[in-house]
Amino acid sequence: MKLISSMLIMIGFIANTAQANPYGMVYTKQELAKMQKRPSSNDLDAILSNSRLDYHGGMVISNILAYSVMWGEGVDSRVQSGVGSLLTAMLNSTLFDMLSQYSTVGAKVVGGHASSQQVIGRGSYGGNVVIHPSNAASTVTDSQVGAEIEYQIRLGVLPAPNENTVYSMFFPPGISISLGSALSCQVFCGYHHKYNSSQYGEIHYTVLPNFDGLCAAGCGSATDSFATLSIVLSHEITEVVTDPSASGGSGPAFPDAWNTSGGQEIGDLCAQRYTSLKTSNFTYEIQEQFDNRTNSCDETIYTSP
Ligand SMILES: [Zn+2]
Repeated sequence: MKLISSMLIMIGFIANTAQANPYGMVYTKQELAKMQKRPSSNDLDAILSNSRLDYHGGMVISNILAYSVMWGEGVDSRVQSGVGSLLTAMLNSTLFDMLSQYSTVGAKVVGGHASSQQVIGRGSYGGNVVIHPSNAASTVTDSQVGAEIEYQIRLGVLPAPNENTVYSMFFPPGISISLGSALSCQVFCGYHHKYNSSQYGEIHYTVLPNFDGLCAAGCGSATDSFATLSIVLSHEITEVVTDPSASGGSGPAFPDAWNTSGGQEIGDLCAQRYTSLKTSNFTYEIQEQFDNRTNSCDETIYTSP
């Protein structure tokens, strides 16, 4: 009896933190506060020590090729000028050496599906593209983001995708993105998703709103809005690599790749824990990511040439 009641407490704790983040969504601070009480960091370490990312048989991204895509001319000038260097550093860094543990060659598959037999290695930055969206709405739905990417590919403005391509979408002030009933800067600070194109197959992308204004209070835990961006971007990039075809629910199954049994992805487990990415001339703030080898958030300071 005693054992059962302490197990129930344990399950209660796990339920509090293991709420699924649809498509690896990063929640705003207000939204996190509205959720059930979060455990103290010591309790959280104990929960993490019992956490594990399982492989469900879906594809991962082997050597990510990421493009930064500006939604119109109005994207913050620091984002326009700085995000290329950030992605160049992040994708060619020791962070990706850590991610290689989520290669699927020989990985145990939960659910009976075959493994995709892929190796995850470092990636590269493809360049920056400013699009002039056909969709001029101030609130853009997630499926409209996907359709716009497809349209810009058809126009030849964006390069066509291959299995490694990710479009990192950056938005100007004044544009909100809606994912289901959730709005950017009110419920979430970023997410990753896919769009099923009949012409190009699965199109993978990350979505980050502008982090000034309304978003500064909800998403800005960092020293400035560009640091907020680098933290949220690192969360979504590692998730799109390890779970690109996410189903988004709390019961992961193929074509999901790496998820907890409750549908959390690599970044979700370590949200609000920060480390650094150092290059020869700049130190970026990024988020810690879950390490299956140690059942903890990897506190390594990552480096890039
Ligand atoms: Zn996430």
